[in-house]
Order: sequence, then structure tokens, then C-alpha cells
Amino acid sequence: MHFQPDPMLDSFRQEIRQFLRQHLPADLPRRQDGMRSPRADLVRWQRVLNDHGRGAPYWAQEHGGTGWSVAQRLAFDEECAAAGTPSLDAFAHKLVGPVINHFATDAQKAEHLPHIFNGTRLWCQGFSEPGSGSDLASLRTRADRDGDHYVVNGQKIWTSYAHQADWIFLLVRTDPQAKKQAGISFLLVDMKSPGITVRPIISIDGCHHLNETFFDNVRVPAANLVGVENEGWKLTKFLLNNEHATTADLPTLRRFMAQLHALAASSRAGGMALAERHEFLLRLARCEAELKAIAVMVQRVAAMEQDHSPAAHAMGSILKIRGTELQQRMSEFLVQTLGDHGAVAYPDPHAPAACGRAALPMEQAARGVATEMFFRRATTIYGGTSEVQRSIIARSLFRF
Ligand SMILES: Cc1cc2nc3c(=O)[nH]c(=O)nc-3n(C[C@H](O)[C@H](O)[C@H](O)COP(=O)(O)OP(=O)(O)OC[C@H]3O[C@@H](n4cnc5c(N)ncnc54)[C@H](O)[C@@H]3O)c2cc1C
Repeated sequence: MHFQPDPMLDSFRQEIRQFLRQHLPADLPRRQDGMRSPRADLVRWQRVLNDHGRGAPYWAQEHGGTGWSVAQRLAFDEECAAAGTPSLDAFAHKLVGPVINHFATDAQKAEHLPHIFNGTRLWCQGFSEPGSGSDLASLRTRADRDGDHYVVNGQKIWTSYAHQADWIFLLVRTDPQAKKQAGISFLLVDMKSPGITVRPIISIDGCHHLNETFFDNVRVPAANLVGVENEGWKLTKFLLNNEHATTADLPTLRRFMAQLHALAASSRAGGMALAERHEFLLRLARCEAELKAIAVMVQRVAAMEQDHSPAAHAMGSILKIRGTELQQRMSEFLVQTLGDHGAVAYPDPHAPAACGRAALPMEQAARGVATEMFFRRATTIYGGTSEVQRSIIARSLFRF
């Protein structure tokens, strides 16, 4: 594989930049953090994209998507991040949407897909349970058939944005006698169904992303089962085996690097400009070298994913470990670079400044940085912990 600039990809990037200049509404808040955007911004941006034929940027044309290559999708994400667009509903676009496209009935597609395109239905993921995270197949939430309904009982945990979601895609045990993976089914559930309780979990960053979600005799139409009863594990593997090239979150790493450069240019330490301090420059150079290596690896994994290479999975795991560890290191570096201001946690980057006066430049630069450093601790846990990724890599050594 050649790591030369691709003129076709460069012209695609220009096209996206032009699109963003023209269509990203001036009054839509620009994102300067890696958190999910507030619902109103996210929905508004989804509608703008949909109005211009980009409502499903990651899907094939046959599913109403843009049909972009993996490299184009990555370039789209990078350009959006650089322009500060609101986020998309990743649960809809990257997780349940592809499952609906590949496995759902026509009636289920007609019910759900238009809402994903219009941003009128946000989703959350009900997989993890207390005691069933890495070992997902041990899950115990039950769905018992009662006529043309399932009755769901149990508990999910770490359900990101369940408090904002309209629907949840849920893994449930429909055959308690069968061996672990064999008795699991995949259900789509309206979050307004009686018997669902969502309780907040405030994470170490002081924000509310996470929840516990309880199901107490929740009646779900049997028509909401996706695929075949007891064969939900097949859909789960399909869902989890996606997007290997994005696991490092390159746009976030690039944003951290830009923040570090900006701070270096404006800060002083020990009577010297930070940008002149040897230790600082050495540390920055190390991060830059790693970032470059990750960017090359992202291209490599994107090419593998495009070719449906079986090695893409293990390479995605390597990328996830390297990318998330660098995210943690760079976000810590940012907090340290802020000096005294770094010690101040500004809990919610979306909330207006607490004090009545305008923020000083350093306060402005520090806003949300400590919060995000805390948030990045979770990156080596969600999407499969680093230990689990290392097992995937180790197992692949025997295969290739
Ligand atoms: C910010 C955040 C958002 C999340 N969002 C969602 C969501 O929206 N929906 C959802 O369903 N889940 C979500 N999760 C849950 C996430 O998928 C789980 O936290 C993750 O799978 C790990 O499971 P666990 O927390 O139960 O830890 P455990 O699986 O109990 O792991 C505990 C420790 O043991 C290690 N370990 C476990 N098994 C092995 C093994 N076989 N070999 C070596 N080491 C092992 C782990 O690496 C970890 O260090 C989220 C988690 C976080 C942190």
C-alpha cells in the first residue's frame, strides 16, 4: 500500500469543505470537545445533512446512503470535526442502522429508517449488564413470549444517552436453557414503553452521559424482533465487527494536537515561553510522532476494511489500544500545560460560564479540558476494554 496523497481523496475533501462552508449554519454552536452535542444541535445538523443527500454518510447507496468508501467516510469525519459540526447519533448510524439495513423486515425498515434520516428518533444501546460487559453473552435480561408480545425483565447498565433516546436496541435472553450465545435475541424497544426506568450515573468527568436502565414487565411487540429468535448473537457479531479504522478517533487526536500547539504559542512557564522549553518540545514531538504513526495506520486499516480483509479486526484492535492510550496521554498533557488553570474542572463544556463576567483567555482555553481528560479514561473501557483487544490481537497471531 502507498501512503501518498490521493488526488481523488483530496478533491473529495475540498468538496466536503465547500459543503460545510455553505451549509453549516452560522448560528449552530461549534464543537470544541469530544462529547456528544446537545440533542437540539445534533438533530438540526442531521436534518441539514439529509436535506443535501448526506443523511446517511456511512451507508451504502443501496441503503439510501452516500456510498462513500471507508477512506471518504474518514475524511468526512475529519473535516466535520475540523469545522466543529455537531455530532451525529452514532448509535443510529454506526450500530443499529446497519443491522436494520441488513437484517430487518421491510416493515421494520419503513418504521425506523426515515426517522434516522430525519433525526427524529435517537437510539441507545442496551447490551451491557452488571456482570455482563466483556462477557456479553452471559447477559440475563429475559424476554418471555406472551402471545404476540415479549415481556422483558432485567437491567442494563452504562446505557449512554438513554435519558435522551427515543428507542433502544436490546439484547435479551429468549431461551434460558440454551448455551450462552445460542439463546439471545435482538429487540427494538420504544423507550416510552411502560415499565422502563432510566437512572442517571454521573461519571468522573461530572457529566451525565451514562445510565442504568431497568425493565419491569415491559411488553414489546414480537414484531420488534430483528432477525430470528435466539439468533441475536449473529447480529451482535455483525454490529460489533464494524468501523475498525475509526477506533483510534483520529479527529480527537488532531484536535488535542492543535490545542497543544495553541497553548504552546500563548503560554509561559518558569519565565520562558512554553514553546521554547526543551522538555515541553520533546514531549510534544513524541506525541506528534505517535499521531503520525496512527494516521498512517488508520489509512492501512481503512484499506483493509475496504477490501473486507479478515485481518482488519485485529488491526482495528491494535489501533484502538494505540489511539485510546494516546488520547489519554495527550489529554493529561493538555491539563498539565494549562498549569494552575488545568486543575480547575469546568464540568460541562456545553453549559454557559458559571461566573457573570467574560472568561479570561486562559480560562477560555481551559474550558472543558480537565473534564475531557477525565472522560478519556473511559476510552480504554468502552467499545471493548484494552485487555479484551489484546486477546483479539493474540488470537489473530495464530490465524495469520
Ligand atoms: C463511557 C462508557 C460508555 C458506555 N456505553 C455503553 C452503552 O451505551 N451501551 C452498553 O451496552 N454498554 C456501554 N458501556 C459498557 C462497556 O461496553 C463495558 O464497560 C465494557 O464492555 C467492559 O465491561 P465491564 O464494564 O462489565 O467490565 P468487565 O468486563 O467486568 O471487566 C473488568 C476488568 O476485567 C478485564 N477483563 C474482563 N474480561 C477479561 C478477559 N477475558 N481477559 C482479560 N481481562 C478481562 C477488563 O479488561 C477490565 O479491566 C459503556 C462503558 C463506558 C465506560
